[in-house]
Amino acid sequence: MALYVQKYGGTSVGSVERIEAVADKVKGFRDRGDDVVVVLSAMSGETNRLIGLAKDIQAQPNARELDVLVSTGEQVTIALLCMALHKRGVDARSYTGGQVRIRTDNTHTKARIQDIETERMRADLDAGRVVVVAGFQGVDDNGNITTLGRGGSDTTGVALAAALKADECQIYTDVDGVYTTDPRVVEDARRLDKITFEEMLEMASLGSKVLQIRSVEFAGKYKVPLRVLSSFVDGPGTLITIEDDNTVEKPVISGIAFNRDEAKLTVIGVPDIPGVASRILGPISRANIEVDMIVQNVAADQTTDFTFTVHRNDYEKAQKILEQVVAELGARECAGDNKIAKVSIVGVGMRSHAGVASKMFDALANENINIQMISTSEIKVSVVIAEKYLELAVRALHSSFNLDSSDTVSE
Ligand code: ADP
Ligand code: ASP
Ligand code: MG
Repeated sequence: MALYVQKYGGTSVGSVERIEAVADKVKGFRDRGDDVVVVLSAMSGETNRLIGLAKDIQAQPNARELDVLVSTGEQVTIALLCMALHKRGVDARSYTGGQVRIRTDNTHTKARIQDIETERMRADLDAGRVVVVAGFQGVDDNGNITTLGRGGSDTTGVALAAALKADECQIYTDVDGVYTTDPRVVEDARRLDKITFEEMLEMASLGSKVLQIRSVEFAGKYKVPLRVLSSFVDGPGTLITIEDDNTVEKPVISGIAFNRDEAKLTVIGVPDIPGVASRILGPISRANIEVDMIVQNVAADQTTDFTFTVHRNDYEKAQKILEQVVAELGARECAGDNKIAKVSIVGVGMRSHAGVASKMFDALANENINIQMISTSEIKVSVVIAEKYLELAVRALHSSFNLDSSDTVSE
């Protein structure tokens, strides 16, 4: 008998029929004698719908009230699932984040979990009940409802699994595991049996939204066994592993991630003197704008160009700030492009292999795709390209690194 925390995403609870199918699945585990804590998302589209309603009233709604609003989506699904379980003769109780007591800080719309009370859930499990918890939400010390950021139900699932010392946290979604790249973009993408936390964290950070970044961080930190599976078809899914076993030869690249959420800004003709980077990025960071990639060219004529990327939502705000900076620094002008995309190859195998980046650049050159920016770390290489070439680039890299499902895994 095992204890599973099972998180079902929006598509998996997107209709009454699907909720009934989840109830059948949960009942199957109970019939085998397992204990189950279920974490649910809102029905697919519901969180966006609620945010839309708020924005119809105010462009920048108050964050506390936004949390009160968007947390309602999950309250609907947990109650409906309990009813579907009761119909099947399975005892179950639903709880909001505040009722369990998932205590968070007070950063509305992106709160962090601080601790979770487990007594109530333990008592229910001991009484033979299934516990059904609303994902994505918690409560701060003053009793205010908070939410954990988009996709945050994954983090609720992992955090509950850590708190309850569950045997496994199972993330049920609309794909049957983690793939070499988004299977909706590359048909030939291959399901991975295993991926390391380190690689999964890079994939999630670089745009693979199959798992919320924070859920992977949390699982790595608390060593929660984590598996991504389909709620529609049976199968082993993908296990996120702590250490990779060395028994099988690993491919150099495990996956390709991409992201269309960034925009690029360049300050042109900046005087090449100390302190310039700080004078450009200081005002950007004071405006709470996060910077991702940065490139500064070598000066040829006592001036240099300084390029960086920000989230697309912050593009206009950053442009306004730079107009001021250009004037203050005596730079020539500021240019920008919000039709860019970032494509990244990820793999721990890169550590022990040379020439990975140049192979990536060759594959892009063969497709005539211009690289605008490059950044690397120990286990990833990212490039910025024009957004219109994104799918072509991902497909070209997928096949040149032998990731296609028709290929056998090779070094
Ligand atoms: P849920 O609503 O269940 O949380 P999400 O939409 O958040 O589901 O995540 C599942 C989606 O993640 C898939 O439908 C898929 O399009 C996307 N995805 C992106 N990258 C990958 C990847 N490498 N492997 C699997 N799915 C991926
Ligand atoms: N419903 C929330 C969202 O759409 C949380 C989640 O589904 O994980 O972001
Ligand atoms: Mg999700």
